[in-house]
Amino acid sequence: MTFKDLGLSPALVKAVEEKGYTKPSPIQEKAIPHILEGKDILASAQTGTGKTAGFTLPVLQHLAETKHPKYRPLRALVLTPTRELAAQVYDNVREYSKYVNIKSAVVFGGVNAKPQIATLRSGVDILVATPGRLLDLHSQKAVSFNRIDVLILDEADRMLDMGFARDLNKLISFMPAKRQNLMFSATFSADIKKLASGILNNPVSVEAEPQNSTAKKVTHKVYQVDKGKKTEFTIKLIKDGNWSQVLIFTRTKHGANKLTEKLIKAGISAAAIHGNKSQGARTKALRNFKENTIKALVATDIAARGLDIPLLPHVINFELPNVPEDYVHRIGRTGRAGAAGEAISLVCSEETEYQSEIEKLLKEKLNSTVVEGFEPTDTAAPKRAATQSKGSFGKKKRPTNGGASQGDRPKKKPHFKGNKPAGATSGRGRTGAPKKKRF
Ligand code: ADP
Ligand code: MG
Repeated sequence: MTFKDLGLSPALVKAVEEKGYTKPSPIQEKAIPHILEGKDILASAQTGTGKTAGFTLPVLQHLAETKHPKYRPLRALVLTPTRELAAQVYDNVREYSKYVNIKSAVVFGGVNAKPQIATLRSGVDILVATPGRLLDLHSQKAVSFNRIDVLILDEADRMLDMGFARDLNKLISFMPAKRQNLMFSATFSADIKKLASGILNNPVSVEAEPQNSTAKKVTHKVYQVDKGKKTEFTIKLIKDGNWSQVLIFTRTKHGANKLTEKLIKAGISAAAIHGNKSQGARTKALRNFKENTIKALVATDIAARGLDIPLLPHVINFELPNVPEDYVHRIGRTGRAGAAGEAISLVCSEETEYQSEIEKLLKEKLNSTVVEGFEPTDTAAPKRAATQSKGSFGKKKRPTNGGASQGDRPKKKPHFKGNKPAGATSGRGRTGAPKKKRF
């Protein structure tokens, strides 16, 4: 199966070939023909499976085929939960549209709106945006949704987690009822299904068939380390292993800052990326990390979600996430597109319960080791994620620090509890635990 076989035009095929893609990924193979037919899609696929090209290519083709010779109204809108993801999706849209006469743009909060307004005025066919800034721009009449033909929700589950439901509904209320809707989500909670049933029209469910061979390329490793020794241990791992690129997850923004400082003190170039950092600092940190001018990027879950960091060899969970799905997202940063990767977790006595929950989700025991000189002595009892209020979507507020900014994940109920075993279906959506395997 080739991109041409999927029905994509020579201009688009040429662009993906230049990106080095030799054949479509499974999710692309499944989704592209339906999207070209104009169907609504509800797609579930783990991170790193090539979803961006999966929706961008057919949408570009549609836009190119139905382009007005004179006018350039906004006809396609991609909504993403975070600024970084918006920037990244936009980069892809630009690359894929290199040989078609389609204009794209990106808008998100935390930066000056004036240039964004000017770009929108000049005419844009496809816009990538975060919900908050887009609403602001709409209320300033800098953008119109009257001619929206295709709406794409990327990382829809994370958008709900971040409390964007109300913004989404508001944005949608300004759009024509007759339009194509494409929704992507790694997990299918009750809230996501509710959102999907409100937005999608008779959708086709698509799921990437994971391939076993690549999944096995990610090794999971647990080191039992006392809480107070984790920093020292992390420094040792990086130095002993002579690692040049490592992504480290912490649970809190404060924890990310503290660890970053200590790494720098130990002579390891590092930067933190989280919701309290300015947009400039976040963009710079990510760029430096991608270009490998810094070795370590220390991130909170929200900040790292959906980011495409190619061929990342090492991921460290400085703390285990208290929502098991987040573990799957985190390790999605390693072993991407078939490359080998290592997912390391530092687990202290308080986190053993989180570990069992992750193992339950993965249906796999994680290999635990103790390293000489770091034998655990902590005796603190396991913590369990407090059962949090049952906010249904629509009730949650997005972070109040303005625009489409992102803070740490708002408290959410651990939605894994309601997950049915993988393979169970109900209604129009497919339910089940997220898949840890990718193409
Ligand atoms: P997702 O949104 O599913 O997490 P992305 O769209 O960010 O995944 O793609 C992940 C990586 O895979 C990117 O580096 C992208 O360039 C690459 N990629 C996408 N499609 C293909 C393909 N058909 N062949 C090879 N690489 C691909
Ligand atoms: Mg994506």
